[in-house]
Amino acid sequence: MTYSRCGIVALTERKSRFLEIQTDRTSYLLGDVVLVTINAKMDHMPKYESVVLLVSCVGTISRTFTDAKMPPNPKVLSKTYFEMKNEFMNQNFPLSYSFSLPGTSPFTGEESSFVLTNPIISQIFKISAMHSYRIDLFVKQDGKIYLAEQKDIVVRRTFQQIQPSPSWNFEIDNFKIKIVLDKPSYYPQENGFLLFEVNSKVQRSTSIPKVSFNQTLIFNFDDQQIVVKKQIIPQMSLPAFQPYYYGKRPLLFKIPEGLPPSHSTPLFKVEYSFDISTDLFYEGGAQNQLKLVLKSTILAPPNLCGACVFMPLITNDFNPPSESILRPFWQEDKSTDTCGICGASFGLITRRHHCRRCGKVFCGSCCVDSVLMKDLGFDRPERVCKSCFKLIQSN
Ligand SMILES: [Zn+2]
Ligand SMILES: [Zn+2]
Repeated sequence: MTYSRCGIVALTERKSRFLEIQTDRTSYLLGDVVLVTINAKMDHMPKYESVVLLVSCVGTISRTFTDAKMPPNPKVLSKTYFEMKNEFMNQNFPLSYSFSLPGTSPFTGEESSFVLTNPIISQIFKISAMHSYRIDLFVKQDGKIYLAEQKDIVVRRTFQQIQPSPSWNFEIDNFKIKIVLDKPSYYPQENGFLLFEVNSKVQRSTSIPKVSFNQTLIFNFDDQQIVVKKQIIPQMSLPAFQPYYYGKRPLLFKIPEGLPPSHSTPLFKVEYSFDISTDLFYEGGAQNQLKLVLKSTILAPPNLCGACVFMPLITNDFNPPSESILRPFWQEDKSTDTCGICGASFGLITRRHHCRRCGKVFCGSCCVDSVLMKDLGFDRPERVCKSCFKLIQSN
C-alpha cells in the first residue's frame, strides 16, 4: 500500500512572543522538501555568545481503522512520523532552512488485520522554535564562580530608546558645566559624543577632565549580588578648560563591537556608564571635584533584528559638532608687561585687568567700564576695555 498521495498539514506553533515561524506551503506530501523561515518579531534581539535558537519539528501520523472483529467502533492509531531538532547559534534573522519529510509512512502491514475505513487521516507536523540565553551564576565548592547557561527560557529585556539623552548639570561659584550624551542608547560600533557645555568665569584653567566608559554587570542570585566592572573604552582626556572659557567641546567615542546589550532581568543586568572626573580648579583653598556617572544603553546590533517592526532606523551619518568657543581667548598675564592701550608698565601699583570682551590685558583705568554682554554668556555687567566699550557703544 502506498501513502504517497496523502496530504500533510504543517502546523506551526506560535508560542514565542519573539519569533515567527512560517512554512512555504500549508500542506505537503510524504517526501516533500519543507522550507521553514523564522523571523524575529521583537524590537531587538540579544547578542550573546550563548544565543541559541532551538527549532523542533515533530510529526505524527494517524490512521483510523475499523476493527473487523469489533465493528462499528473505529480505532485511531498514531505513530511518530519523524522528529527533528535543530540548534542554531548566533543566527541572523530571518533564518531559513529546509529539510525533507520521510518518504514512507511508519505504518506497515502489521495493521493488516484491520479494515481500513478512511485511507489516511494525517495531521502531521508541528514546528516550534524558541531562543534562549539564560545565564546563571553559581558558586562551586572550590569557591569559584561559574556561569551556567540554560536553554528554553526567554528573558524580556528593557528597551530604552525613548528616553531622553542623559545630561548632567554642575554649578559651583563661577563655573557652570552641562554634560550631554548625544543619544540615550547606542549600537555596537556606533559613534557617539559627549558634549561639554561650559561657562566659566574662573580666572584659571581647570585640570584635565578624564572620561572612562565602563560596563557594569550585576548578577543576582540567591539573595546575593555580585557586581563586575570593566572598562571598555580606555580612559580619554579632554583639554583643560581655559580661564573664562565659554563654549561647547565634544568628546568623540566609538562603541566597541560585540558588546552585549543592556538589559534587565531577575538574573543579571548590564549597565553602561560614562565616568567623568576632574579637579575643576583650585581657588580659595578649596578643590572642587567634578565626578559624575552618565548611564547609557547598548542595544543589540541591527543585523540581529531582521525585518522587525520596531527596529529603529540607524543612519550612518555621523556629524559630530566641532568645538565652538564663544569667548575670545584669555590672554596670559605673563605674556605682557604693559597695558595694551596706554602702555603703562604693570607692577605693584598698576595691576593687570582682563577685558571680558576681547580677553586682553589692560591697566585699571583703560579697563574700567562695565557692560552686560549676553551674547558672551554673561548674566551681569562685566569689565571691558576702552576699545571694546567704544565698539559696543557705536553698535
Ligand atoms: Zn592702560
Ligand atoms: Zn577689550
